[in-house]
Amino acid sequence: MANKSKPEIFQKSIRVRGLVQGVGFRPNVWRLANQSNLNGTVCNDGEGVLIEVWGQGADINNFQAALRTDIPPLARIDAIEVSEVSEVSDCPPTQTTSPDTFTIIASDTGKVTTTIIPDAATCDHCLADINDQTNRRYRYPFTNCTHCGPRLSITRDIPYDRANTSMAPFIMCPECQAEYEDPADRRFHAQPNACPQCGPKVWLCDKQGESLFQEGQGDVIWQAASLIKQGHILAIKGIGGFHLACDATNAEAVRTLRQRKKRYGKPLALMAGSIETIRQYAEVSDAAATTLNSASAPIVLLKKTAGAENLAPDIAPDQTTLGFMLAYTPLHHLLVTDANVPLVMTSGNVSNEPQVTGNDEALRKLSKIADYWLMHDREIINRLDDSVVQLINGETAHLRRARGFAPDTLILPSGFENTPNILALGADVKNTFCLIKDGKAMVSQHIGDLHDAGVHADFRKALDLYQAANDFVPQRIAVDMHPGYSSTRWGESISAKAGCPLDEIQHHHAHIAACLAENQFDINCPPVLGITFDGLGCGDDGTLWGGEFLIADYRSSRRVCGFTPVAIPGGEKASYEPWRNTFAHLHKALGWSYVTEKYPKLKLVHDLNQRPLARISKMIEQSVNSPSISSAGRLFDAVAGALDIFPDGLHFEGQAAMALQSAAENYPDETCAYKCLIDETISWQPMWEEILSDLDTGISTGRIAKRFHNTLSSAISEVVKRAVAEEGVDTVVLSGGVFQNKLLCEQTISELKPFELKVLYPKIFPANDGGVSLGQALISAARYLS
Ligand SMILES: [Zn+2]
Ligand SMILES: [Zn+2]
Repeated sequence: MANKSKPEIFQKSIRVRGLVQGVGFRPNVWRLANQSNLNGTVCNDGEGVLIEVWGQGADINNFQAALRTDIPPLARIDAIEVSEVSEVSDCPPTQTTSPDTFTIIASDTGKVTTTIIPDAATCDHCLADINDQTNRRYRYPFTNCTHCGPRLSITRDIPYDRANTSMAPFIMCPECQAEYEDPADRRFHAQPNACPQCGPKVWLCDKQGESLFQEGQGDVIWQAASLIKQGHILAIKGIGGFHLACDATNAEAVRTLRQRKKRYGKPLALMAGSIETIRQYAEVSDAAATTLNSASAPIVLLKKTAGAENLAPDIAPDQTTLGFMLAYTPLHHLLVTDANVPLVMTSGNVSNEPQVTGNDEALRKLSKIADYWLMHDREIINRLDDSVVQLINGETAHLRRARGFAPDTLILPSGFENTPNILALGADVKNTFCLIKDGKAMVSQHIGDLHDAGVHADFRKALDLYQAANDFVPQRIAVDMHPGYSSTRWGESISAKAGCPLDEIQHHHAHIAACLAENQFDINCPPVLGITFDGLGCGDDGTLWGGEFLIADYRSSRRVCGFTPVAIPGGEKASYEPWRNTFAHLHKALGWSYVTEKYPKLKLVHDLNQRPLARISKMIEQSVNSPSISSAGRLFDAVAGALDIFPDGLHFEGQAAMALQSAAENYPDETCAYKCLIDETISWQPMWEEILSDLDTGISTGRIAKRFHNTLSSAISEVVKRAVAEEGVDTVVLSGGVFQNKLLCEQTISELKPFELKVLYPKIFPANDGGVSLGQALISAARYLS
């Protein structure tokens, strides 16, 4: 092609940075180069992908344009730098005369960055393969290619090669090997490439592990689907862990699953095969459909429609939403298609333990829950829960970030380029950790509650993998300033061993910094007003906070307002027994004798009087196991308790708040708000008087719940008005778990519109403690860099 007698030949070196390794980037470059009649080379190296091309000017221009737009589905380009080859000093050309072909140079493993990318849902081409009777992968449940399939879940070590994954025991057959070696094939260098001849196998077994059907006795997945249709509960091994599955339209099966799993109240996730199926039960906006269909394939919270009545009533009781995901592996696709009903797909675990990942473990631990086990022999190396998102004002916001998203990186905002290696260990419940290296932050998948020994073991294992995969040695450690957190203690021990400094970071400051970072606020951004509402976190003054207004930048934070602290009698117990918070609030705001005298006929007063109030009062007065905290989460519980929501206690923290939100959502037109007193702190005293009066006059629970939400957003608006006048802020950050309440979040955003401020809330990382590690890392970095 390149002929010296023809028009002038140019030589260029093109550096591509971003998510460009392990995603089929080089074969794509090869294809584009051939299309543009260019010769040259493409290789992976420590900085990304390096391309050298020889060809005519117009052809090179076409190639460069295509390089930006025609990229593989899982790739992400952060930067493209083009230089005439003579200008490139670091990467001298391997050849000075034009080669006569375009070739892919094999990776030099020593220098390659060892990116592990997130697991990706089955692509359309692989789906077509498994549905095509003439294809050799017809109905093969482990079909994948460069554009889809397992990644982090099967990775044991780096570099990301088959030998370092749980695909190692499966030796590719000649046909698969040929695909793997052909740059023109979609399966070129697809490490988990497999087919029925050479890949993992699926089987169905009973409690004893006895196979129900031998090979050749019919299709195992079809059999599994028919067992589900008969009302059985199946444990199903997926990509990042086991699920417990049953027919979502079978009320009896769903009730049995809840009883056996002892999972009461918490909504169950659902899986369907298509958007059309989901639309029979819930509203799916265009934005929601895009998210459902994305390679990450998360669970998306969707508003129930009348059709939801056709599902078992126990799926999401007291909720206005359903959590749906689309099938994301070939196994799931075959199963939902064969079952032809939506499936409950809840995580396969016992109470608060992590999701089960091993076959023996699944038989042992799920023996009292499942009837049958759909197993396979591809080991799950890294547990990955399903990710959960909701739409806030039409945009995706994470509730839980795991499968399909981790370990994707965030490029740090401007000013953080020279950050040393920082490891931040997050919070204890909904733990994640975060690594900062080379100007990027990598936040781990949702790890969970570190109080559970199994979760803690996963935490340590994931920490090891992430550090090894990133060739990471920490130079600073960041932890929560709560001395009792096990994540804090773990950080202290790493810091002592590595001999590197330890930064203790205030919990709510970390929430704000995480939100600034994902919104690319630079290191010297002016202070913002951060509004952080959550259960609790250790405050600067050593007391527990959770309803705070902080003026903050990356380096420091200063509390300008917060909820008046109220005792939580019984400590931890108060998170599960709302009545304790109701009593404590009424006791503090109005005095219990006043309440009983003024509202003697109220059911609330009667019910509370059945409780051991004398003892509780004494505990509060003597500060026995009754810390005073300014928690927004406990305020929600207190109001829910007053409205008789879950009088018998909660099955999980936050359940009352979710029910309160759902009740309020039925009264969108209610605009009334209660009064509160805003000074250095916010006192809810006037609100309690009005709530009691509303209860006394028979105002409905839902209406009071809505008025309570209105009260919070109007109180926020008052404090914002003050901060704008006194502090000159132009940006407000809403974060903390309480802002995962869609109603409160959207209502607050709309209430703040007239101020013409930037109003930010977390989208990429969860507003709850799942985002804390990122914020810790950024604060530690900012302090170091200044
Ligand atoms: Zn594919
Ligand atoms: Zn094969």
